[in-house]
Amino acid sequence: MIRTRFAPSPNGPLHLGHAYAALCAHDLARARGGAFLLRIEDIDGERSRPEFVAEILADLAWLGLGWDGEVAFQSARLDRYAEAGERLKAMDLLYPCVCTRAEIAAAARAMGPDGPVYPGTCRGRPVDPRGAAWRLDTARAMALAGPLAWIDERAGAQVATPGIFGDVVLLRKDLPASYHLAATLDDAADGVTLVTRGMDLFAASHVHRLLQALLGLPVPVWHHHGLLVEADGRKLAKRRGSPSLADRRRAGEDGPALATALRAGRFPAGISLASA
Ligand code: GLU
Repeated sequence: MIRTRFAPSPNGPLHLGHAYAALCAHDLARARGGAFLLRIEDIDGERSRPEFVAEILADLAWLGLGWDGEVAFQSARLDRYAEAGERLKAMDLLYPCVCTRAEIAAAARAMGPDGPVYPGTCRGRPVDPRGAAWRLDTARAMALAGPLAWIDERAGAQVATPGIFGDVVLLRKDLPASYHLAATLDDAADGVTLVTRGMDLFAASHVHRLLQALLGLPVPVWHHHGLLVEADGRKLAKRRGSPSLADRRRAGEDGPALATALRAGRFPAGISLASA
């Protein structure tokens, strides 16, 4: 049976782009008689706030989107992430890194989709692992895993090229997890068969495919949907002035009517769907 999920980070209020993402995941599951799961990606202790979790639940209910089963919280699963990190360390695929963001930016050879691609400064040099982040030695991991393929329902068959992200952090300095490790482990643990998320995370799926191979996890199919953008082509963001779902809800807007409009491709003025 198909299982999809919506996995927001409770770092701020949801906006129309999140509503669109949730609708995609929900409707894909419902159209195929499957399950739609809700996972709160709250490992970022400094930015995640319980009041945003409450708003997320209220926003989804307001839109008429019901999820199946219990809500999953990443903050309750840190042991699992740490255990997987230890396995990767035992495979000699992680190395400690003490570089600061500023050092990485200064030394970076290229800018990647998520900021500077790490130039490998700490790879192969003696570093005190206490208080260090742990990075994946991506080239070594790719050599171990061999060629990998994955399928995006919209974009078709892909050959995994995780190297575009460089050596990603899998265990942060402050936390035995990172987005890439936690999301990959959770999708496997929750039996997600169709990973739905926005095109902005398309490149991350190359890394996740590699992690699945290294950790012996099942391989889902992906569905990266188009992103809602403002008139200048930039992704919607609360700070750029588009009202949050909570603002709309409190202003008395009709949630199911908004969901119907988004499904039909009718977006508020100045907002459009960038589908590539
Ligand atoms: N938590 C991520 C976000 O809010 C989504 C991650 C995912 O769907 O894999 O952008």
